[in-house]
Amino acid sequence: ENQANTLFTSFDADEVTFFADLILPIPVPKLFTYRIPRGMADLVKIGARVIVPFGKKNSRVLTAIVARLHNSPPANYQARYVTELLDEYPLVNSYQLELFRWMAEYYMCCVGEVMNVALPSGLKISSQSKVQFNPDFDYPELLTEHEEILLTELKKQPALTYDELSRLAGEGVNIAALIKSLVGKKAVIVFEEIREKYVPKMIRKIRLHPNYEEREQLLVLLQRLEKLPKQQEVVMRYLRHVPVQHNPALNQKGLDKTILNQDDELSQSSLQTLVKNAVFETFEVIQPRFADTSAPQGEIRLTEHQQRAAEQIMARFDQQNIVLFHGITGSGKTEVYIHLIQQALAGGSQVLYLLPEIALTTQIVVRLQRVFGDKMGIYHSKFSDNERVEVWKGVVSGQYQFVVGVRSAVFLPFDNLGLVIVDEEHETSYKQHDPAPRYHARDVALMMAHWQQAKVLLGSATPSLETYYQAKQGRYGLVELHHRFGDATLPNILLIDTKQEKRQKTMKNEFSSALLDALEMNLERKEQSILFQNRRGYSPYMQCEDCDWTAECPNCAVSLTYHQRDAELRCHYCGHKEAVPRLCPTCGSTKVKTIGFGTEKLEDQLQVYFPSSRVLRMDLDTTRAKDAYGQIIREFESGSVDMLVGTQMITKGLDFDNVSLVGIFDADRLIHFPDFRATERSFQMLTQVSGRAGRRAGRQGTVLIQTANPHQSILQKIIQNDYKGLYEEEIQERQDFNYPPFSRLIKLTVRHPDKAISQQAAERLCAELTDALGSTRVLGPEQPLVERIRNQFLFDILIKIEREKVNIKAVKAYIQDRINDILTDKGLRQVSIVIDVDCL
Ligand code: ADP
Ligand code: ZN
Ligand code: ZN
Repeated sequence: ENQANTLFTSFDADEVTFFADLILPIPVPKLFTYRIPRGMADLVKIGARVIVPFGKKNSRVLTAIVARLHNSPPANYQARYVTELLDEYPLVNSYQLELFRWMAEYYMCCVGEVMNVALPSGLKISSQSKVQFNPDFDYPELLTEHEEILLTELKKQPALTYDELSRLAGEGVNIAALIKSLVGKKAVIVFEEIREKYVPKMIRKIRLHPNYEEREQLLVLLQRLEKLPKQQEVVMRYLRHVPVQHNPALNQKGLDKTILNQDDELSQSSLQTLVKNAVFETFEVIQPRFADTSAPQGEIRLTEHQQRAAEQIMARFDQQNIVLFHGITGSGKTEVYIHLIQQALAGGSQVLYLLPEIALTTQIVVRLQRVFGDKMGIYHSKFSDNERVEVWKGVVSGQYQFVVGVRSAVFLPFDNLGLVIVDEEHETSYKQHDPAPRYHARDVALMMAHWQQAKVLLGSATPSLETYYQAKQGRYGLVELHHRFGDATLPNILLIDTKQEKRQKTMKNEFSSALLDALEMNLERKEQSILFQNRRGYSPYMQCEDCDWTAECPNCAVSLTYHQRDAELRCHYCGHKEAVPRLCPTCGSTKVKTIGFGTEKLEDQLQVYFPSSRVLRMDLDTTRAKDAYGQIIREFESGSVDMLVGTQMITKGLDFDNVSLVGIFDADRLIHFPDFRATERSFQMLTQVSGRAGRRAGRQGTVLIQTANPHQSILQKIIQNDYKGLYEEEIQERQDFNYPPFSRLIKLTVRHPDKAISQQAAERLCAELTDALGSTRVLGPEQPLVERIRNQFLFDILIKIEREKVNIKAVKAYIQDRINDILTDKGLRQVSIVIDVDCL
């Protein structure tokens, strides 16, 4: 009845047919069976990508992954044909297919959703992929009427997407099949990767011919050049940069050609002669994406403490697959990682190094690149699709044995992992919130490593309670490092009582006199300061003094944040923006004031108190552009900036020599956040940000925490760097109330534009779950802190399931069934339910 049938009528119906069960990138919990055209049958492999038509009237084109090959046709429908095969070899290996299945089950989502998130979009031909007329086509083949029409259109245009073409072709035309046929006749070209191809920049390098790597030969050469002093000078210059006798490996890496012939013409012509005479040889390498101006570091030398930690980790790995590396801030964990990575690579296995999102753009990568150069792949969300595709393919081809990357790097096609490092393992940004799969990269990495029998090193100065508990139970090894690198000490942390300063009227706006004095002293000493306030914008509220009107988001139940720089009110939940009212919209009063403070306001005030200083701000608003984050870091590093104000972004992994003061605002807001993890989180965040101070030997750093209640026990623990004390107290509470690590949490969020319906659905779901699981395991339904987002009313249900003696699969299946009941209930139309397994 449509094109698909006519196109393939040439196949003999009696012949053996092949079918493929495919993973499609859509949220439907099953595999889809398609038929494989005969010519493709011998070529198609499990894990390869294919293109298929999808939807009513084949209106969509999707890229799918082959999960299974068989020859039993589906019982209740006519399978459609696969239109194109994209890979001769599997793009996704068997570990990954297993991972997709495991994640779908564990995180209660669809395997297609996992695949969709796992593959960089550059590897997915979508409805956006483009089709172009092939200029070499000269009609040697007969075209059908439809093909004729389509081709005429295509000739008029540079390139069209599948979507555009299917609109042109009109309803009832199988556009995918049509294009497939045109591709077969070589009439059109389909772009696999839609955006511009990534073309690496090349650097011209020069190195001594391997003949002269041997000391004897080199001496002979230099002697021979005695009579040609200019050439000799060029060789000597080279040797000063690259001492071959000590390390022929360095010679292989060569030297940037511009370094040798930069200033004088004489050396240029001498160099040319030397190349002609095969004393030097030139070659090209890909320019690394992170510019590195410093000299190659070659070997790193571990300190005694680091060396011991590395040895202990190796020894633990003989007994256990997972080791927690608890090392204080500034202890040089990265150096230890580098050492272990080198060992793993030397042993011939692959290495994955996971880092939280923000840390990756900067300092650590440069340090790693100094050691591993272009052998290291970098997988980052700010990279383009094509760059990510390149890394993916590089892992398949073996070009990259070592990848450093963010959360999604766990999806790369490794098949021989020896070591996985999860740096800052406590970081919440390892958990994906939206869309599904809502996975935790650390936990996924643990699973992948388990299958490939790789070792996992979890590193942190402030481990998550979950991880530390496993270590205490003996399930993970534990190695500790309590010395800062180079005899530096942990900073001195002081609590500033803001209540008292307010009584004494010594506060200036948000600043205590203690903090202002310290900042002033730091300026005089030409040392840098970091100021932390975990709130962006100018102020979080705008209110009328006369009638109490407050600016609220029309779509969400939150106040709008005032952003002074852009003169706007903004919702931090849905992105809604509006102009700042000059008069109160309700009573017309002019007394509209702002309440509370964010990073913008602090930046302004600092500029007022210290007019001759340079202040930079780092938060979501100043780091949207691709390299903005790196630019701020480099500027601060250069020393031309005195103070850096920022949100939690500045707490993570930054390493500056000259920072000796950290000021912390609003610590109480973090501590009293209504969540059972608030104490743990504030300890982690405040310890991490404090750790930015005094990282070099010499002067001890200072941290000032402004609080209304200096006696809180959490603050005392932070001052004393008492992680263990915090752990003991917290773990007891977790046990008493059956929270992780003693239970697993599954959070269900019911959403609907109508509050009553949302509540009704949530209550029913909750009652059904309580019936089956018992009231101690099911909490809610409860409205979250922000009860309406994007015009959806939210109700949360929290399910706690103990870790032992419960069939978690059965429980999940039950939960899923109850959810499906609700989603298919006609009385509850438009209800949606978000499932978050191991919610944070
Ligand atoms: P951590 O991640 O534990 O907070 P880093 O790995 O960032 O600490 O190290 C802190 C600083 O000390 C970095 O600037 C690093 O280059 C330096 N450092 C640490 N160990 C060494 C070493 N063995 N040799 C040279 N520099 C080191
Ligand atoms: Zn008013
Ligand atoms: Zn909003």
